[in-house]
Amino acid sequence: MSEKMKAAVLHGLKDLRIEEFPIPTIGDNDVLIKVAYNGLCGTDASEYAKGALMVPLEKAHPNSKHQGPTILGHEFVGTVVEAGKNVKSYIGKKIACGAGVSCGACKRCKESRTNLCSNYYTLGLSLHGGLAEFVSAPANICVEIPEGISLKVAAIAQPLAVGIHGVRRAGVKKGDTVFLLGAGAIGAFVCVALRNLGVEIVAADISKERLEVVSKLGVSKTILIDKDATVQDLKDQFGSQADVVFETSGAPGAIAKAVALTAMGGTAMLMGLNKTPQELVFSDPVLREITLQTTVAHVCKDDIPEALELLADGEVASLLTGPVYKLEDSIAAFDALLSGSASGKILIGSE
Ligand SMILES: [Zn+2]
Ligand SMILES: [Zn+2]
Repeated sequence: MSEKMKAAVLHGLKDLRIEEFPIPTIGDNDVLIKVAYNGLCGTDASEYAKGALMVPLEKAHPNSKHQGPTILGHEFVGTVVEAGKNVKSYIGKKIACGAGVSCGACKRCKESRTNLCSNYYTLGLSLHGGLAEFVSAPANICVEIPEGISLKVAAIAQPLAVGIHGVRRAGVKKGDTVFLLGAGAIGAFVCVALRNLGVEIVAADISKERLEVVSKLGVSKTILIDKDATVQDLKDQFGSQADVVFETSGAPGAIAKAVALTAMGGTAMLMGLNKTPQELVFSDPVLREITLQTTVAHVCKDDIPEALELLADGEVASLLTGPVYKLEDSIAAFDALLSGSASGKILIGSE
């Protein structure tokens, strides 16, 4: 094995370079993964196009201790080619990586809420990730891909795990009605996570194309909405309220809409990210005892195996996976992601 590999390294605002990089070294509990595929998501797009937000270019990350140009990519799958002395059994295995590294010792880790670890960091954001020929990862965040599932199908396990985590936290039960505000990538993954739960899903979005995708994922009714639609417009269009409303759009004013569409005693699950202050008259959710809930990332040991199970038949992956770019063409892939010209999850790599 040569000492160097190719990698897509973020150096700064819109400064992603495909360059030679040393092959990572591994510790006793780590594995070296030959990357097959790495998916791109909105977080990567923001790091690239809005200037490093999470990537620690200027100041060392408090937990990863890493600072400087960083190999992006936190949604990767591949084959373990080398393993530290405590984790030799991983060699040769095909794995999906959770990317979020947790310490195992803090209060939240002990509650199995590893996504909230006080020493948390993410490969591909706070340390080198999977947009490279090789990546090093702790073995305990790598989940073996079951026989019969290809690496390409498994490539969307990590973002699907995020949807599964949200659904788990919302406590969706059989027979519930579920509304989805926003049918983009997160919304689609929420639909997949809801698939076997026996719920009725109604999805709303401003894009007809996105609604077409989720209508193939078990959504029984889709509603095309105007981007300036008011709370009352939405109430009229939905015509009823739901036990659980997933707000995945992150659009301004969306929280008030999600709350208004939640039935008495129901749950509004907030997944979309929006940094502008939002208005909400709280007497309404209080008087109707609505649970306002949030969710972030996923719990690797629970959510990634379930994601792989849901992907097993290959059908979901074929609906949600978009074009595959070579690592050398990563910049073109980011441009496609930013322009919204590609439909489905963009992957980098090849088997
Ligand atoms: Zn992602
Ligand atoms: Zn921890």
